[in-house]
Amino acid sequence: MKASFFPNSAALVLTALALGSFLVGQPYPRVHADEPVYDLLITNARIIDGSGNPWFRADVAVRDGRIARIGRIASASAKRTLDARGQILAPGFIDVHTHVESIYSLPAAENFVRMGVTSLVTGNCGTSTTDVGEFLGRMKSQPLAVNLATLIAHGSVRRKVMGLGDREPQPDELKQMEAIVEQGMKDGAVGLSTGLIYVPGTYAKTDEIVALARVAARYGGLYATHMRNEGDKVADAIRESIQIGELAGLPVEISHFKISNKKLWGQSPMTLGLVRDARARGLMVTVDQYAYTASSTSLDSRLPAWLRAGGLDEAKKRLADKATREKAINDTKDALKRSGFKDYSFAVVASYDRDKSFNGKSIAEITKQVRNKTDVTSQIEQMLDMYEAGGAAMIYHGMDEGDVKRIMQEPFTMIASDSGVRQLDESVPHPRGYGNNARVLGHYVRELKLISLEDAIRKMTSLPAQTFGFRDRGLIREGFAADFVIFDETTISDQATFDKPHQFPVGIGYVIVNGETVLANGQMTEARPGMALRGSGSNILLQSRLK
Ligand SMILES: [Zn+2]
Repeated sequence: MKASFFPNSAALVLTALALGSFLVGQPYPRVHADEPVYDLLITNARIIDGSGNPWFRADVAVRDGRIARIGRIASASAKRTLDARGQILAPGFIDVHTHVESIYSLPAAENFVRMGVTSLVTGNCGTSTTDVGEFLGRMKSQPLAVNLATLIAHGSVRRKVMGLGDREPQPDELKQMEAIVEQGMKDGAVGLSTGLIYVPGTYAKTDEIVALARVAARYGGLYATHMRNEGDKVADAIRESIQIGELAGLPVEISHFKISNKKLWGQSPMTLGLVRDARARGLMVTVDQYAYTASSTSLDSRLPAWLRAGGLDEAKKRLADKATREKAINDTKDALKRSGFKDYSFAVVASYDRDKSFNGKSIAEITKQVRNKTDVTSQIEQMLDMYEAGGAAMIYHGMDEGDVKRIMQEPFTMIASDSGVRQLDESVPHPRGYGNNARVLGHYVRELKLISLEDAIRKMTSLPAQTFGFRDRGLIREGFAADFVIFDETTISDQATFDKPHQFPVGIGYVIVNGETVLANGQMTEARPGMALRGSGSNILLQSRLK
């Protein structure tokens, strides 16, 4: 009968629609109309979705830690509503270059959260855990505010197998190193890192790194490198990084891309050109950068590699010999000359345990104070004394603003802090650990208009996610993890300076990790919703287990 045909057909259509929505993962309310469907609803925000596209306005609904819906959504449909009128809603920032091996002692990771960071990649520059499974697994019993991924680091693996010696590995030692890297990749490392100015990474030749990078490549990892040289031989170092990627067959990420040789200031078109050429040949190469003209690393990285072989005790024995000490001074002096700086006034102590009054002062100032001398030899003697007394963390004011800007404008450049978790008011660290993302958005985007807001966000979200294989993060898309930052584009700015680094940025109101609020109205909450982000190596293992 015609009368009953239509209702039946309508019911069929409705069923099909419901099934259709279910199949494509769309939310279909299975509850009473007056019961909330979503855990959180963010309304009225201007959304910058991480893709680089211009902002748009919509509501975003979250359920079970994921973005359930984007569009016009009724307030009654959510347990909690956040009105973000006048604010920007962006994916939580992914900081791919960090050193947070100690994060379990500071699980709030406040300095990162307060600059809008929701995911960290640690294990950079050749130093990481050698037990990735244990490191990431610890999040279950000791939850963190942010998501965490790690690289497996060549330097730490080499140290475990071979100690700190200046020599090549025996074949069986190389096998052992490969096995540790393989296990790290299976346990979820996102790639291999090197730190080729540090002990013991600096003693590795290219073929050793290629061998280990091949293992990372088999498990879908990338190669992240603190290159052998960022100064007078920076071009050679870029070529070596690219060669490793081409020989081992994996993407290359050049860490904290910079030129720290004064004589080469302004040469970033050349160094960026080397990366562009490699990309044109088909190799995936990307870089990351922090938004400052000063770097930060150890004091001993300025001293000759031969002196540091075997670690501090060995070095002390060498320095006890007058002729060897003289050679160390002369080699260091040569390196200074090559770098284009006339003395060590560009080198400022961030943290020196033996005498905290040195913190914040340059080597030149300290030498004047301690020795009443201003010559370079005395400054190097002062550095050797401090090295022998346990070493120091340093800040080196060694870059050119023009290069920093040019590198930032390059499409394949990510924004990353190169920072650790910070304890408020401890030492005088590099301000990047408190201000990096905010500095880009406030200073370089709003004040200097160097790049667009949308592009800056892309460099902090979807580009890092794409590069490190976080397939469901870095974009505001239905089905993606609900990692967000909400900020005011008109006020966001970094407050941390080189003199007073322990200052949080302003203009960032909310940070949400996996749907849970870790920063609410500028205040830290107690929530610890962070997840371990494992590389594809752990998926391969999982799939083979499921077979
Ligand atoms: Zn580094």
